[in-house]
Amino acid sequence: MERSRTIEWQTNGICNYDCSYCIQSKKYRQGHPSDEEIDGFLAFFASLPGSWEIKMSGGEPFAFPGFLGRIVPGLAQLPHRVSVLTNLSAPAWALRRFVDLVGDKLVIISASLHREFISVEGFLEKAVLLRSWLRPETALVVNSVLVPGTLTDLQAVREAVQAAGLRYFPQVMKTKAGTYAYTSEDQSRVTTMTGSQPTSHEANLAPSYRGRLCWAGVDYFVLDQRGNAFSCRTAKRFGEGYLGNVLAGDCQLHLQPERCRYDICPCTVPANRGMIEGIGVRYG
Ligand code: SF4
Ligand code: SF4
Repeated sequence: MERSRTIEWQTNGICNYDCSYCIQSKKYRQGHPSDEEIDGFLAFFASLPGSWEIKMSGGEPFAFPGFLGRIVPGLAQLPHRVSVLTNLSAPAWALRRFVDLVGDKLVIISASLHREFISVEGFLEKAVLLRSWLRPETALVVNSVLVPGTLTDLQAVREAVQAAGLRYFPQVMKTKAGTYAYTSEDQSRVTTMTGSQPTSHEANLAPSYRGRLCWAGVDYFVLDQRGNAFSCRTAKRFGEGYLGNVLAGDCQLHLQPERCRYDICPCTVPANRGMIEGIGVRYG
């Protein structure tokens, strides 16, 4: 399997939604880089050896004018691939502009359905339009958080997503401390949605990979909107795994994988890209 080095970049904190179950507190859901900082990020990406996938999230990337105005045109000039996590609230013209700028570099669009802010019909209409603009190799996945109290409706939502020809990806609800403790009744509904032993491609259950060798920090890292780099989300949450600041020019990646020390792995990228020992197919 080809190496699939990936950076998860929080391009901005601001978001145009305010979901009740958002794991990012309002205090952190704000801010964005200046034009000079964006240029600093782009210079850092340009300096990376080889080809990386730059997977962007926020907040909501499209809610920041600099995303489409400066970041995306800059990335279009670089030899890296691009993915984005979006709530799909951007107008169709903005999504079209994004595809036009980076279409041949696009790996995945992860579109999160937040029913507190948009109807399933309105969301799917836009998602189907967006799908029609993408190359067959580009994945478009509909993420859906398994929010307690909504689980009985979600089966119909999944059917609607699949009937529209799109891939449905359920995610267990996370809290600051880990994953949400569903009641036993809700847990069986969750299992109905995810299957009992889903792979990391089929659902995000935020499992534990404690003790396994992990290439996070070597071939994968997360980058916040201020340029701070961390080996993975969980390490960042525990105030560990700091790799330096890319805008200050002192980011140093690890040379070797380390054993995971955490009881939760909420990011699917290392698991889905074969970066965790014994999970998926290890690239070489
Ligand atoms: S769209 Fe995402 S980042 Fe924005 S409030 Fe909802 S969960 Fe949070
Ligand atoms: S397995 Fe997951 S939580 Fe553990 S170090 Fe790797 S990315 Fe982080």
